[in-house]
Amino acid sequence: MTDLITRAAVIGAGTMGAAIAAHLANAGFPVVLLDAVPATLTPDEEKRGLTLKHPAVRNRLVRAGLERCVKASPANFALPEFAERIVTGNTEDDMGKLSDADWIIEAIFENLDAKQALMARVEAVKKPGAIVSSNTSGIPIGKIAEGRSAEFKQRFLGTHFFNPPRYLKLLEVIPTPDTAPEVLATIKAFGAQVLGKGVVICKDTPNFIGNRIGSLSGAFTSNYIAKHGYGVEEVDAITGPLIGNPKTATFRLLDLVGLDVAAAVGGNLYDLIPNDESREIMRDTSSRELRAEMVKRGWLGNKSRQGFYKEVKSADGKREYWALDTATMEYKAPQKIRFESVGKAMGIEPLGARLKVLLSSDDRAGKFLWDTMSFSMAYAARRVPEIADEFYQIDNAMKWGYQRQMGPFEIWDALGVAETAARMEAQDIAVAPWVKEMLAAGYPSFYRYANGLPTGYYDLRTKKYQPLPADPGIVTLGALKAQGKELKANESASLIDMGDGVLCLEFHTKTMNAIDQNIMEMMGAALDELGKPQYAGMVIGSEGEAFSAGANVGGMAMGAQDGNMAEQVGKAVKTLQDLLMRVRYSPKPVVAATAGMSLGGGAEVAMACARIVAHLETYMGLVETGLGLVPGGGGVKEMLRRTMAPMKFANGVNPQPFVGKLFQTIAQAKVSASAFEARANGFLTDSDRIVFGRDRLLGEAKREVLKLVGDGYRPPLKDKNVYVTGRDGLATLKVAIFGMRGGNYATEYDTVVAKHLANIICGGDLSSGQWVPEQYILDLEREAFVALVQQPKTMERIWAFLQTGRPVRN
Ligand code: NAD
Repeated sequence: MTDLITRAAVIGAGTMGAAIAAHLANAGFPVVLLDAVPATLTPDEEKRGLTLKHPAVRNRLVRAGLERCVKASPANFALPEFAERIVTGNTEDDMGKLSDADWIIEAIFENLDAKQALMARVEAVKKPGAIVSSNTSGIPIGKIAEGRSAEFKQRFLGTHFFNPPRYLKLLEVIPTPDTAPEVLATIKAFGAQVLGKGVVICKDTPNFIGNRIGSLSGAFTSNYIAKHGYGVEEVDAITGPLIGNPKTATFRLLDLVGLDVAAAVGGNLYDLIPNDESREIMRDTSSRELRAEMVKRGWLGNKSRQGFYKEVKSADGKREYWALDTATMEYKAPQKIRFESVGKAMGIEPLGARLKVLLSSDDRAGKFLWDTMSFSMAYAARRVPEIADEFYQIDNAMKWGYQRQMGPFEIWDALGVAETAARMEAQDIAVAPWVKEMLAAGYPSFYRYANGLPTGYYDLRTKKYQPLPADPGIVTLGALKAQGKELKANESASLIDMGDGVLCLEFHTKTMNAIDQNIMEMMGAALDELGKPQYAGMVIGSEGEAFSAGANVGGMAMGAQDGNMAEQVGKAVKTLQDLLMRVRYSPKPVVAATAGMSLGGGAEVAMACARIVAHLETYMGLVETGLGLVPGGGGVKEMLRRTMAPMKFANGVNPQPFVGKLFQTIAQAKVSASAFEARANGFLTDSDRIVFGRDRLLGEAKREVLKLVGDGYRPPLKDKNVYVTGRDGLATLKVAIFGMRGGNYATEYDTVVAKHLANIICGGDLSSGQWVPEQYILDLEREAFVALVQQPKTMERIWAFLQTGRPVRN
């Protein structure tokens, strides 16, 4: 059983505290946020005659913290108005506000005495049973609760979020020996299911898992770079996506985090780990002088506009990032970096096979990668069971905390455990005794695999493989495919049996799931299959970064080069329209599981479904106008239908403001920055659900299908169910377009496109407002699309987009 958390509080409104409060607010909770009372007045407060007793002064820190949090980029709040869910106060006047909270999170500065003193005051006001946790990155959790009652200690633990908490998946949860099992279970379930985090249970050891491995590996790599004279760009070229890390690689990440903040992480680690055989790395001064010099010069990274990189305007006005030459302390224009091993490995998939090629190469890149990664792998193994009983917790922490595709043990498995261990030992890198014992006992890999997927792990206690814990809320398509559940597949899409009568139409093109001929064919086949009696409904989704970035305009541009383009495009648009009408009117429910980019045709697919189950990070928009087009697959029709439906229930409502908003959303190609904003922009309805855990999305979508089936799903009735405003509405929109041009918000060609859009939205040249069938709007969409695609300026936009990734404004 887990306790119910309905109200939360955070103490400390700094970088972490305010952002944790924001994420709790995103999840729909009222949050109390407190910070300290300032000890002195600012010159401005003095000038205004304020005293330390004035509420504006007493709440200055919390207000400033929340303000910074609201303005931060990337956004902490899924919608700016969610900040209103946060009630602020200070820790002298408002401790009473904590008495309602079910969970109180401490995120004040990293100081044991201050944290202990605060806990004594929290104990005095918290309600019995409330859970209290600390977000400390390095102070032993047990020590923070010293001096508190048994009840407090039972309900106390560590909850270590990673920055920024909305986006980074890792949540380290650290129970003490006193923490009650149900408290651990509550926070674990809440973190995973409500906040969407990947929870890793840690032992109460210095810096826990992510920062312990990260600090030592980071220090080793920095020293290695300094000792062997690798350049900033050289390192970033080989430590990013090539090896399964984010694009920020090594130095871009340091610039993003800030050199001062990075230095603080693990700053006090050396003294805390007297028995760590590798701790001298933290005292190695090879890279320290350089960092100290950079901090002295104020070159802290992005926040000071220069660090390891500096943004420079090139002669032709383009933005360029120049890298620091650490020998001369000057920034240099971008260089082309070439390594033989990288050329050889570049296209190799999967990542494990690529790493094998890279780490066995003996050029400069191969040597760097082997030397740094062999350290990390061996070091991680030597920390088991000290920091985690199960090694897979380390893999999870490193993947979720640093957005890496593979953890150290997964990489070691891919390289081959025995040969890698032998290579390490030949170079005097200590291999943990348990690894040798595992190999000697005939267990050849850390994980046990079935059809290429890990299903078990080597357990140090029982000295054999044990099954990996399964979370029934998480459905993985890879696992279903490995079990032979893929019914059909082509290059761009697959049809998978998810079990319980639910199908999954998976998109998997190389280009952000752009909708192409293959996807359309598979969609048709999927709908045919769904007609069979054994199926109850279908999910459309994927495990990729994007749901779908839209129609494949590349194909369209190629097609435009031969003669009968209008006819071809018209046919393709009609095919998509017909397919999406089949989806919408399917007697069995189809549910879209959206995440990441869900643009253009992707948004149209989603809106055609009976429901959308959207990941919080769903970026949805109808962006066709940017390419000189209009939505052609029912996007305008669906937005209209959703927006105008209430007109059915009231007479005398002025539809114009609604039409105006919808016109703006599409004409300006607005892309929502979260699923909540997608709802505010009219893409999601109130019945559509928003899910916080990306890995839970497909499972939740499947549950939604089954729920709709259980509720006796009926498809919508074919009816005149779209309201259009006709000639009068069109006249109003044309005035708005004229204004956009006059105010220089739109180019001449933008107005051409906007007029086509306005024509669709208003239902063309109708003498009065009226209800029309969906097909009527679809025909208008298709006509406009075909007309626009033949315009040279539209083609110019599409070609520019294909070449540069950005449309031109012509
Ligand atoms: P910060 O310095 O940005 O914010 C700390 C806030 O706490 C400040 O607003 C300060 O005024 C307030 N404060 C200090 N003492 C207080 C007290 N006695 N009562 C009430 N408020 C008080 O720090 P941060 O980076 O947000 O870190 C907070 C905690 O989270 C630390 O324990 C840190 O180690 C940990 N942490 C930080 C990060 C990170 O990336 N910054 C990541 C994970 C964990």
